[in-house]
This record gives sequence, structure tokens and C-alpha cells, in this order.
Amino acid sequence: MDLRGWSRELGRLVLPVACAGCGLDDVVWCGRCRALYDRAPWRCEQRARRLDELGLADPLPVWTVADGTGPARQVVVSWKDHARADLAPLLAQVLRGAARAVACSLPSAPLLVVPAPSTAASVRRRGSDLVARLAVAAADGLRDGGRQARAARVVRRRGGDQVGLGARERARNMAGRVTVRRGVVGLDGARVVLVDDVLTTGATLAACRRALEARGAVVVAALTLASTPPPGAARGVSPQGTAVGAPRTAGLAWWSEPTAPTAPPTGGPGAPRR
Ligand SMILES: [Zn+2]
Repeated sequence: MDLRGWSRELGRLVLPVACAGCGLDDVVWCGRCRALYDRAPWRCEQRARRLDELGLADPLPVWTVADGTGPARQVVVSWKDHARADLAPLLAQVLRGAARAVACSLPSAPLLVVPAPSTAASVRRRGSDLVARLAVAAADGLRDGGRQARAARVVRRRGGDQVGLGARERARNMAGRVTVRRGVVGLDGARVVLVDDVLTTGATLAACRRALEARGAVVVAALTLASTPPPGAARGVSPQGTAVGAPRTAGLAWWSEPTAPTAPPTGGPGAPRR
């Protein structure tokens, strides 16, 4: 065993790890749970009932990677709400790959990548703005795909958690809470790609879009890690999205593959908190 291997083993003795998706011992994210994110991005906006309720001209194209159920969903919950900071670079890499794959489907104009805002309280609780990190990764991926792109946190959100709220309450809770940050200029005509962790009802993305377009920006697409099926949708069925004709997320050959079988999903209540 090399030095890195020894140090990893030592780390495990001190702090046991378990798969963030299924709880399998001794691995950060097991191969089976990881495979749920190892796919070409697909369009999921038809799942979000609140995306078009603002009466905006066109529905916003939203690309996602995973179906946000079971272990795929639990990974995001672990990352955001169970202090699994070790997942951040891995999920960032997933989104970077997805952004690279969709780059060719986006306008050739320079793109501003805007993270869906978390409340200040969430950022304090987690120690960092996790979605902002995804946005940086998405901008990297868009550049990998030949686009000019940069990430900037240009919208903010006032408090009010979304936990336990239905679609209608989420939309109401979000309306008016998302605003462009003070001091932000030059949005007029900017082409924006929104980034969020999970697309649920679409209320968050719709609120971001409204705030940005009120300042003259054009929101051209959104990119998320996962998308939650609408209530009543069959679980476990592969979503019928429009996949992009691009290779699956690459560059993950170093992924640690467990040899043991995957344990049953631990599930876990509630959507990831903002
Ligand atoms: Zn797992």
C-alpha cells in the first residue's frame, strides 16, 4: 500500500465513512449509487409545475443528470444537510461533465452562470454556499464545451425554508424573496444559465428567472444535479427526457469501487434544505 493508501486507511480508522446514498461502509459514494449520476444529461422541465406559471413566453429548458429518488436523492440530502463536505468535489465533477455535454445546445454568446441562492442562514449552517460551488463547476464545464462562461452569485434570497412545503406553498414562499444583489450591474442582455442542486417544483428557478429578466437578462437554460418526479409519478422508472447526444460524465476513473453488494437504500425524509 502506498502512502496515500495508508493515509486513507488511517482516516477511516479515525472517521468511519459510509456511502452517502445507501450507507454502504467504507466508501464515500459507492459504485452503484454513483452510477445513478453517470449518465447523459436529459431535459426535465416538464416535471416542474411551477416553472411556467409566471406566464413567461417559453418554458425554461432544464437539464438534469439523476432521477431524484432513493439513493440518488439521499446523496444530495447527505451533502447539504448531513455535513458531507467530502461529496462536494464529486458532485461538482458530475455537474461539470453535464455542463460540458449541454454546452453545444446553448447559445454561443458568453454565458453567465448563476447559482440558485441559498438563504444566509443555510450558508452559515453549512459553512459555505454549496450551490455556488456547483455553479463554478458548471461554468468550468461550459468552457470545456467551448463556450465562454463565468459564474457569479448575482441573486440573493431572503429567509424562509422550503422544507415540508407543497408546490403551491413553495411558489408563494419564494415569490418576491429572490432579488438581484445590490451593486450588480450589466445584466441587460446577459445570457444566463441557472444552476441548482435539485429541480422539484421549479419555484426557485422561476423566481430567479423573474428577478433576472426584470433586469434585462435572458435566462436561456438551467442545469441541476437531479430532478424530483412529480407526485404520483411511477418510481424507479427511467425518466423520459431528451438526452443530449454527448458522452457520459468522464474523468471518474479514480472512483473507489466497493466490492461488497450495495445495502438497501436508507431513504431519508424531506427534501434537501436550502
Ligand atoms: Zn451507495
